[in-house]
Amino acid sequence: MNTRLFVDNNDIAYCTTFEDGRIYKVLIKPLNKTIYVCEECGSAWLDLDSLFTEEHATSLQYYLKEIGIIGDGYVKWSEIVEYGDFLTASELEDAIQRHGISIVN
Ligand SMILES: [Zn+2]
Repeated sequence: MNTRLFVDNNDIAYCTTFEDGRIYKVLIKPLNKTIYVCEECGSAWLDLDSLFTEEHATSLQYYLKEIGIIGDGYVKWSEIVEYGDFLTASELEDAIQRHGISIVN
């Protein structure tokens, strides 16, 4: 359970597990669903609330295997994922309110 969120000068939100990197919005093309992935540790969250509630975030690769989108063989990543912008604190505003998160700069 996380109670704080590190945000940089550009309003970019940082990994809630280790505060080690920014969080990419990643489109999973076959599902047309966006998930959130740390640029450094690879932690992945399936929705915005999970950033603050997950004890153990999954990883992009583990998640895609779990739901059967990839196997153990060669993966053509460009057909499966599309990395978008970094997640901002403004986009997280509702979740920040809901979970009583304090912002750390
Ligand atoms: Zn991280």
